[in-house]
Amino acid sequence: MRFIFLGVPGSGKGTYAIRLSEAKDIPHISAGDLLRDNRDHPIHSKAIRHALDKGDLVDVKIIADFISERISKDDCKSGFILDGFPRELDQARFLEERGIRIDKVVFMDASEEIILHRLSGRRICKNCKKTYNLNTNLAPEKEGICDDCGGGIYQREDDKEETIKKRFEVYEKETKPVIDYFESKGIVFRHNANQEVSEAFDMFLQNLYKDES
Ligand code: AMP
Repeated sequence: MRFIFLGVPGSGKGTYAIRLSEAKDIPHISAGDLLRDNRDHPIHSKAIRHALDKGDLVDVKIIADFISERISKDDCKSGFILDGFPRELDQARFLEERGIRIDKVVFMDASEEIILHRLSGRRICKNCKKTYNLNTNLAPEKEGICDDCGGGIYQREDDKEETIKKRFEVYEKETKPVIDYFESKGIVFRHNANQEVSEAFDMFLQNLYKDES
């Protein structure tokens, strides 16, 4: 199956998407990771760095090319999970123009209060990119060290308060219309993401695949 995951920053879309990817053995493609991996891109590094550091969206042409290239790889033949793409209407239309079929759009719905609490505790492994949270039961066993690979963990630049606010504004303005766009196609699966992933994931998975069994 081909999925899109949408939601406000910190709604847990990345965490759920990774768990779904492991459960169903389909690749997890994070638009944010593709951009962070391309901070030194020979042509677009300036635009990418600027967007990442300010919490703005990069130009549709840049991100669309990275996404197209990634989903054309062999490991995407039996499906993929797009996490954080499309984030604005032009990006959603790009998928349609290229005839890229999407089966379900998972919308992670969570309250602003819970999200701010989560984001301030979010930490990422520098090496394998596993996500932790110091404010939930997803903290690493040893402080500052990744449980899986032993890499150092860090706080993302854009998880600082000013940038979080900016990302919320961008979400309201640019991403909400994308959800409406997919609602009109009848493929949105809404998930209440206020609960912790460890408590809610099994039920989430069952509901997501309910129509398939
Ligand atoms: P994320 O890791 O999904 O929270 O994304 C981090 C940052 O990457 C965002 O604040 C944007 O600057 C940029 N970004 C991520 N996804 C997109 C996208 N689909 N289109 C444009 N910019 C994006």
